[in-house]
Amino acid sequence: MAVKKKPGEFFDDLEAMSPQAREKYHDEKLVQAIAHAYRHAPAVKELFEKTGISPAHIRSVKDMEKLPITRKTDLIERQKAHPPYGGFSTMAPEEVDRIFLSPGPVYEPIQHEGIKWFAKTFWAAGFRKGDIVVNTFTYHLSPAGILFHEGIRDCGATAVPTGTGNTDIQVQTTHHLKATGFVGTPSFLMTVLKRAEEMGYDVSKDLCLKRAWFTGEMLAPSVRKTLENDYKIDTYQAYAVTECGGALAYECREKSGMHLMDEYLIEIADPETGKQLGPGEIGEIVVTPLHNRNWGLVRFGTGDLSSYTTEPCPCGRTAHRLTGILGRAGDAVKVRGMFVVARQAEQVCLSFAPVARFQIAVTRQGQRDGITLKIELKHALSGKEKQKLSDELSQKFQNICRIKPDRIDCVAEGSISEEQPKIVDERTWE
Ligand SMILES: [Zn+2]
Repeated sequence: MAVKKKPGEFFDDLEAMSPQAREKYHDEKLVQAIAHAYRHAPAVKELFEKTGISPAHIRSVKDMEKLPITRKTDLIERQKAHPPYGGFSTMAPEEVDRIFLSPGPVYEPIQHEGIKWFAKTFWAAGFRKGDIVVNTFTYHLSPAGILFHEGIRDCGATAVPTGTGNTDIQVQTTHHLKATGFVGTPSFLMTVLKRAEEMGYDVSKDLCLKRAWFTGEMLAPSVRKTLENDYKIDTYQAYAVTECGGALAYECREKSGMHLMDEYLIEIADPETGKQLGPGEIGEIVVTPLHNRNWGLVRFGTGDLSSYTTEPCPCGRTAHRLTGILGRAGDAVKVRGMFVVARQAEQVCLSFAPVARFQIAVTRQGQRDGITLKIELKHALSGKEKQKLSDELSQKFQNICRIKPDRIDCVAEGSISEEQPKIVDERTWE
């Protein structure tokens, strides 16, 4: 694909690497990161010893399957047993620049010097020198506020550390300073804008907000539409994980999935077996920092479910894209070897106008898992219309969820209540 690159469009050359160059890059950085972590982080050495392999067994990304996934609970337990860092820090204590707390608690030592790459998520959202950005993430305890602050600065933009809450002051500050950018959660931006209107401001005229960068919360398509169409604020999402010290994937102007950051090895793996999954398959996001040499996390399981696409992106960035966060690992049901996630099924079902509600029943018939998709219609349809809907729905379900429903039942209005689970596992195992 020809890269339509404008000068300064990309933050660095990594964003436009060829697939071969990326593979080589990841393999090389992985070998170095593992060697470093093994040498300096006792927890990593122990992990290898327990697994019965040595760093020499990790020559490529594929080899990571040999190692188990480390979960947040493991991190918390290890830190309790070996305070404060659980043997994951590779730094001498006096080298630590700052210590963050993530819920758990998890203590994470940081040296800012190596995390400039963080800025590329803000760069992709269009933040540049001359922008004034209110950063509404918290500045204490959690890494979010200060890390994002530095990312904004590394793009050349000016950061206003407003932190969380204080809605009236947020409105006033955004107005007085003619802030052009917002960093925070979508719901907090909506709160700020609504409050601004209550205070008598016309958001499009009296505020200068042009773009917003979000993480930590899903951006609902309806909220994105309101922000972009009604308030003329361009919106971008990123996927960040506090225990990994930052943003792992980010949207570009195409807003069709989040490009993976090359400073991390990001696998989509089966949460049960740890095996790597291919494009379009849903699994857990598993992360190994490649550049952050201070923190020896290896195959950290985020608990978030996603899949990735290798389709070329018209923006010219070549990294694969996460297709969105589909839920938590515990919320998925494995059917015929594929994870079915309620949120993804919902996207498919509710994209058909006549469908009011849906429910998936997973059954076991002999040696095979069965899927029945129940749909409740908003109004009655003729037999022919029902058949057409069911054919199209089945096809789309298969395309998106990668598994074909065995049957689709149209059920009477009111048969599926809002409180019922979207996926019911009725299988019995004998
Ligand atoms: Zn792109």
